Amino acid sequence: MFDNLTDRLTGTLKKIKGQGRLTDSNIQETLREVRMALLEADVALPVVTDFIANVKIGALGQEVQTSLTPGQALVKVVQAELVKVMGEANEELNLKANPPAIVLMAGLQGAGKTTTVAKLGRWLKLNKKKKVGVVSVDVYRPAAIKQLETLAADVGLTFFNSEASEKPVDIAIRAIEAAKKQFLDVVIVDTAGRLHIDDTMMGEIKALHAAINPVETLFVVDSMTGQDAANTAKAFHDALPLTGVILTKADGDARGGAALSIRHITGKPIKFVGMGEKTDALEPFYPDRMASRILGMGDMLSLIEEIEQKADKKKATKLANKIQKGQGFNLEDFKEQLQEMQRIGGVGAMMNKLPGMGQIPQHLKDKVNDKELARQIGVINSMTMAERQTPDLIKGGRKRRIAAGCGQELQDVNRILKQYKMMQKMMKRVKKGNAANMMRGLKSSIQGMRS
Ligand code: GDP
Ligand code: MG
Repeated sequence: MFDNLTDRLTGTLKKIKGQGRLTDSNIQETLREVRMALLEADVALPVVTDFIANVKIGALGQEVQTSLTPGQALVKVVQAELVKVMGEANEELNLKANPPAIVLMAGLQGAGKTTTVAKLGRWLKLNKKKKVGVVSVDVYRPAAIKQLETLAADVGLTFFNSEASEKPVDIAIRAIEAAKKQFLDVVIVDTAGRLHIDDTMMGEIKALHAAINPVETLFVVDSMTGQDAANTAKAFHDALPLTGVILTKADGDARGGAALSIRHITGKPIKFVGMGEKTDALEPFYPDRMASRILGMGDMLSLIEEIEQKADKKKATKLANKIQKGQGFNLEDFKEQLQEMQRIGGVGAMMNKLPGMGQIPQHLKDKVNDKELARQIGVINSMTMAERQTPDLIKGGRKRRIAAGCGQELQDVNRILKQYKMMQKMMKRVKKGNAANMMRGLKSSIQGMRS
């Protein structure tokens, strides 16, 4: 889903390189490209304009992060803005009503209403343990009533029959009365598709709304319609008090414009998203997860979060101070770094979160697994404190003792000494080392282990 937008955004955001912080000049080109990507994804112009302005404010106002590169920092700002534009958090259906809680579906023809009624009924049944009944007031197309009946039988929902000769309001009221007697929790009312410019049809659904007083009135809209989805939703909302939106067909090659425009244009939350034709293809809409999907950075974002949350900044600062005072980087410090990596979730966890890692064959991934980390720490544990502080002491005899002590081979000891030397060299390079550089060093060394 939203593949084009994803490609464009990741391509653009990856280009921000270098050290230091985000500045007016180093983000200008990127912001221009992000803007283009959003417009091409058919995001509504006012949304794009606000989006870019907010990202800019966010980027320039960012405190100097101790642990993120400018590229990562910008990804974070863009991610946060994507989340915001889609509504921050998942808004659940409100089913607090005297049972049955009534849910009314509205939308254009072919938007996916009937399918979504069945999907939502199934979802409520399985996830909220609700007893759900469904009814169709699409009296214009008898086939649509039959369609709902079949779907309801498939997923085990109570179906209330209706005749094309009845009035929509009568059908709905009769179904709700019957549902009450059967102690159902929820009744979902499917309606005929209509255009917001069709006064007669809009009058019909307004009267229906007034008669059944639904606790949720959901606008079902095809995400392929891009920003038009937002505009139609707004037009419907002007006639009918909507409580939320269900975005369908997000599995197709929708460009993302609908998902990103609806909240901003209508002020109404997207509550669910349809991801396929089958009745199980419905997911609650989580702005943060959707933002991550749109950015398509694997779990790069959660990695950024973890680095921020877990990287022990105090420890990094201590180490930095130590090196600045010229005390050198010894094996004990190296061990602390390895433990830090373990704490962050281990190399394996990190690798799976890095973008593009999916393509790397498992046998290569296994080479740098967490066991390796534990082995390395084991080797250092087998050294005396004097050896850890003055690694030059470690020569032939001592190496053999260390290997025997941790139950590993001589070559394992040699390997860790080599890795330590590499790290030490890097540490020397960051003489003016501050905590930020140190954490970056730690990260690149982790990433270095990938190859
Ligand atoms: P209605 O006219 O609004 O009731 O729309 P329907 O529920 O009859 O759906 C119209 C078409 O869209 C049908 O072929 C559905 O299978 C299809 N459809 C509905 N939701 C989705 C979805 O989330 N993904 C895909 N790929 N197809 C969907
Ligand atoms: Mg229908």
